[in-house]
Amino acid sequence: MQKHHQIIIIGGGNAGISVAAQLFRKNSKLDIAIFDPSDKHYYQPAWTLAGGGVFDIRKTERNEADVIPKKAIWIKESAKSFNPDTNEVVTEAASYSYDILVVCPGIQLNWGSIKGLNETLGHNSVCSNYSFKYAPYTFECIKNFKGGNAIFHNPHTPVKCGGAPHKIMYMAADYFRKHGVLEKSNIQYWSGGAKLFAVPKYEKTLLNVCKRANIKLNFMQRLDEIDGENKRAKFVGFGENNKDVETWVDFDMMHVTPPQSAPDFIKNSPLANAAGWVDVDKNTLQHVRYANVFSLGDASGLPTSKTGAAIRKQAPVVVENILALLAHQNLSGNYSGYTSCPLVTGYGKLVLAEFDYNNQPMETFPFDQSKERWSMYLLKKEVLPRMYWGQILTGKA
Ligand SMILES: Cc1cc2nc3c(=O)[nH]c(=O)nc-3n(C[C@H](O)[C@H](O)[C@H](O)COP(=O)(O)OP(=O)(O)OC[C@H]3O[C@@H](n4cnc5c(N)ncnc54)[C@H](O)[C@@H]3O)c2cc1C
Repeated sequence: MQKHHQIIIIGGGNAGISVAAQLFRKNSKLDIAIFDPSDKHYYQPAWTLAGGGVFDIRKTERNEADVIPKKAIWIKESAKSFNPDTNEVVTEAASYSYDILVVCPGIQLNWGSIKGLNETLGHNSVCSNYSFKYAPYTFECIKNFKGGNAIFHNPHTPVKCGGAPHKIMYMAADYFRKHGVLEKSNIQYWSGGAKLFAVPKYEKTLLNVCKRANIKLNFMQRLDEIDGENKRAKFVGFGENNKDVETWVDFDMMHVTPPQSAPDFIKNSPLANAAGWVDVDKNTLQHVRYANVFSLGDASGLPTSKTGAAIRKQAPVVVENILALLAHQNLSGNYSGYTSCPLVTGYGKLVLAEFDYNNQPMETFPFDQSKERWSMYLLKKEVLPRMYWGQILTGKA
């Protein structure tokens, strides 16, 4: 027999747990089921600091059972497909119906789309902070680097936390400087983007950080292959001026960010937009074709930078609009596109970028946030992790 829940949430990550916890704070009688096959929950923003050697990776992992709100029903299964016309979610084992569906299974990391990457990741000085397993190896690579080519890669696809592929480069540069190897280092950034950062106010500071470490910037480049054994990587240009130009680059260490996309089961579902993401209205976060479906977080098609900070502003909007829909009222929750990227620029230095859909700064503090600050570094390292586990996942913030 098909099981029914008033609200079904797909994904018990940052977004799913935030929404469930906030909904229960507003109405403890709701019937909410969270689908997630994972035993573990991760605080991914600290993986940059773990890769920089200043955060214990074990503190970024908790049991999923401990973060699921007590009143929620945890269905430890993967959603496989959706029939939104009949309000149905299908898993390997069963099918479930819902009144309201919230879709937030995160982003898909496509490690396999770079030839040779899976074989060499975690060896041959090839590292990535985009993995709980391998982030600590990044610091091994930084520590063991004695000069030569240090490559930092940013893919040609959307990614979660647009700053993460280069934040670790600034930390590495600072480490090399402190340990007397910067002079012997050739730090190179190879990116699938057209610029370093979307918001000019913060990009200006980052360009100065690159200048002081003599970092060479390469844009409109796609990483196609890594030959780990021979420590070289193949990039292919795709801009007007470098179209199809192949470059093999030798490296002594290389930090890779995997290409990313919407999860396949979302791409192949009626919920997807043309690019594969969940097709929601950018203000109400309600699906554009199915009124009882909402989405937020990395899997949503919201045209903003995919971060946990963005989810902090999206979750209350989803909650307000779900409660309005259940009460047959108009939706009044409205999301501005707010997102934030704490750009670590060195050990003890951070630029807190905060901006909206139009890349206009939306700053919290009464000072110029484009300046590198120790206080903002402390916010990221000491305050935000505690706030995540204690406030955000419990629906208090
Ligand atoms: C290296 C790195 C640095 C970052 N730095 C920052 C930062 O400084 N600041 C910041 O705000 N953000 C940062 N982020 C981004 C932030 O972690 C993500 O934006 C956030 O976790 C997204 O939340 P989410 O709920 O959409 O996805 P996730 O938190 O990834 O959760 C998705 C959940 O869905 C589950 N799931 C997947 N498929 C299915 C399925 N088929 N059925 C059911 N469940 C499924 C997964 O098991 C997972 O639990 C960083 C991320 C990384 C990797």
